[in-house]
Amino acid sequence: MRSIGVYIHIPFCVRKCAYCDFLSGPAPKERRQAYAAALRREIAREAARYAGYEVHTIFLGGGTPSILEAGEAAGILECLDRYYHIQKKAEITMEMNPGTVDGDKLTGLKSSGVNRLSMGLQSADNAELKLLGRIHTYEDFLQTYRLAREAGFANINVDLMSALPGQDMDSWVGTLEKVTALQPEHISAYSLIIEEGTHLHDRLDEYPPVPDEDEDRRMYQATRQILAEKGYQRYEISNYAKAGYACRHNCIYWQRGTGHTVDYAGFGLGASSMVDNVRWKNTDDMERYFSAFVDDADIGQDVKEDVQKLSRVDHMEEFMFLGLRMTDGVSRLEFTDTFGVGIDDVYGEILRKWEKAGMLIRSGDRIRLTDAGIDVSNVVLADFLCTRAPRGRLSAYADGCPARE
Ligand code: SF4
Repeated sequence: MRSIGVYIHIPFCVRKCAYCDFLSGPAPKERRQAYAAALRREIAREAARYAGYEVHTIFLGGGTPSILEAGEAAGILECLDRYYHIQKKAEITMEMNPGTVDGDKLTGLKSSGVNRLSMGLQSADNAELKLLGRIHTYEDFLQTYRLAREAGFANINVDLMSALPGQDMDSWVGTLEKVTALQPEHISAYSLIIEEGTHLHDRLDEYPPVPDEDEDRRMYQATRQILAEKGYQRYEISNYAKAGYACRHNCIYWQRGTGHTVDYAGFGLGASSMVDNVRWKNTDDMERYFSAFVDDADIGQDVKEDVQKLSRVDHMEEFMFLGLRMTDGVSRLEFTDTFGVGIDDVYGEILRKWEKAGMLIRSGDRIRLTDAGIDVSNVVLADFLCTRAPRGRLSAYADGCPARE
C-alpha cells in the first residue's frame, strides 16, 4: 500500500490577528458545525480515490482547529477512520491556540486519537502578543500547556515568531529561554513576514519599529545556538526537535521529489493536494465549498482548482528546492535514481556557484546548505527554479516548464 498524509483545513479563528494572511476568520458556532458536516461529506466522497493508500499522518491545521468542539473534531477523525486505512501509529496533529481549550476538550481530543499538539504561542512577552492581536497572554499559554501535559500529550510543538514590532534581542532570547524551560518536544521558529493586505502592513507606522534585516539574522543565529544548547536539533530551516520528534507530516512536504516521496490529500476550504504527481487546491470560496457538500447526495459541484500535472522539471525543482530546506540536504544518488541523470549534469553550474560562495557543501553523497547558506536560503533556493536555471541544460532532460514559460 502507498503512503499518504492528510491535511484538514479549519478556517475559523476567534478573531483575526494583525499579521495574518491565512485563509481564516471568525464565524458563529452554527457555521462551524455546518462546515464540520461538509468536511465529513467531502472526506467520505473522496474515499474511493485513496483506496490503495495508507494514511501515515493527519494534520488538522487552520485557522484555529481547536476552536471546534472536541466532538466535532472527533467526528472528522471518525469519518477518516471509517473510509480510509489509517496506520496504527499514524501521527495525528492538531493546531491549537491558547484560550480555545480546557481540560475536558483536551482529554476528549486525546481519546479521539490526536497524539500531537502544535501550539501557537509566538511570543512569551505579553506586550508583543498584544501588538500581534493574539487572543491570549503568556499565562494563558502556560495554563493550556500544563493542561495538555495532564491530558497525556507527550508530543507538543510550540510556534514562535521573531522580528516582531518592538522586539529586541533580549526579549527574543527571553522567549526562547522561557519556552525551552518547559521542554516541548518540538519548536518552530519563523521570522515575521509582513504580508500585504494585513492590518499590520496597512498600519505599520502605528507600530514600534520592526528589527532590521541584520538584527533578524542575528536573532535567527541566536535561535539556532540557544536551541542547540537546550538539546533541539535543527532539521529544517525553521524547525527544531528533540531526537525522534521531527514532524512527520511536514517532512512529507519537504521531502517531495526525493526517494521519500509521499502523496498528500487536502480536505476543506483552500486545502492543497498532490496525488500521483497531480497537484490541485480546493476552492477558497466558502459558499461554493458549502454548496458542493450541501447534503449526502453525490451531486456536489467539483471544488478542485488549479489542477496541474507535474512535469519532470517540476520534480527536479521540488527535489532541490524542498530537499535543501532539510539540514540533511539532498542525495546525489537519489537524484540519479529518480531522474536517470546526474545532479551535476543538470545543476552543475548553480551548485558550483554556491559551493564557491560557501553557501552549499558536499559531504559524501549529500549536498546541503551551510550555516551561511541557510541565512540567505531564499536566494540560494530560488536559483534552483527553472526560470533561473540554464535553459539549455534543463530542457535537454525535461519535458518543459509550462507553468513558467
Ligand atoms: S490564530 Fe493563526 S490563523 Fe488565526 S488569525 Fe491568528 S495567525 Fe491567523
